[in-house]
Amino acid sequence: NKQIILKDYVNGFPKESDMPLITSSTINLKLPEGSNAVLLKNLYLSCDPYMRGRMSESKGSYVDSFTPGSPITGYGVAKVLDSGHSKFKKGDFVWGMTGWEEYSIINAPETLFKIEDTDVPLSYYTGLLGMAGMTAYVGFYEICAPKKGEYVYVSAAAGAVGQLVGQFAKLCGCYVVGSAGTKEKVDLLKNKYGFDEAFNYKEEQDLTAALKRCFPNGIDIYFENVGGKMLEAVLSNMRLNGRIAACGMISQYNLEEGEGVRNLFLVVTKRLRIQGFIIGDHYHMYPKYMETVLPLIKQGKICYIEDVVEGLESAPAALVGLFSGRNVGKQLVVVARE
Ligand code: NDP
Repeated sequence: NKQIILKDYVNGFPKESDMPLITSSTINLKLPEGSNAVLLKNLYLSCDPYMRGRMSESKGSYVDSFTPGSPITGYGVAKVLDSGHSKFKKGDFVWGMTGWEEYSIINAPETLFKIEDTDVPLSYYTGLLGMAGMTAYVGFYEICAPKKGEYVYVSAAAGAVGQLVGQFAKLCGCYVVGSAGTKEKVDLLKNKYGFDEAFNYKEEQDLTAALKRCFPNGIDIYFENVGGKMLEAVLSNMRLNGRIAACGMISQYNLEEGEGVRNLFLVVTKRLRIQGFIIGDHYHMYPKYMETVLPLIKQGKICYIEDVVEGLESAPAALVGLFSGRNVGKQLVVVARE
């Protein structure tokens, strides 16, 4: 069983060498009699920014730290090879928490979601039909509470979550602007995902001025993926009674000490509502999300770009690449296709 392990806790930016590939002892492809576990063959693995927090010892994340010397865990799509749990049977496809390895034994399989709809690419369950999609849906519709005609700004807009938030906002009749870190991504935002406007934040001298140019009358809703200086620039451009869904702050994840936001008093004067959320608290809404999004996909009303790398050995570089913006769309890894 090939596995990617965390060598040791990480400080600063993660590197490929923090996550070596090892070959562990052969795995028994049959579960012991009476086991309640499931045995999975991993097909697709998801690379997600929150995994950085799990590589730190103390700062940690909202989920437990990884254990040095043990395989990395994360969201993935897998095939059930053997099951001792009544919810799953051999041959089922599932998505949920699995290991960065060829085969995994999941001892608490009730956390896995059974994949019922296989008319769409299975890889979509690493993102669009899994955690990232749910994050965009809950974050935008529940936390932002959008109204038609409102002005919406999305940062890290060409990523897994951002591309969907922008499209949901357009479906809601909002005016939507996104930012991303390359020309290619900015072109995608405007020409593929239907954002009204987009800019490359790396080419702007003054983010506050860039937002002022895009939103002469201010921002009603900010979908926050980046934090730091971006948040500061946004606060200066928010309208009275605006809402901010604090989804993530990727610019801060590799810093030993986070950057301060100097103009937080604007939250008071502008009567803003900032609400953080963690998608793990909202999975009861998954059936409702699927009912909403599957028809949109099948009618071609939602488009979705994946950045696919081949082979378990490519996973560390793909994960590291999230923090330099190397990925275009949802970053995933193919371990096996069936
Ligand atoms: P993405 O697919 O958007 O990948 C991350 C992107 O972030 C990169 O491609 C890069 O794009 C951008 N980025 C990286 N470093 C920086 C930086 N220093 N400053 C600005 N932008 C940067 O990832 P996801 O869509 O999976 O995640 C987006 C956000 O949502 C993250 O903050 C993540 O932590 C958060 N999240 C939160 C969840 C929750 O439950 N609250 C659940 C899932 C995600 P670019 O080219 O634009 O720089």
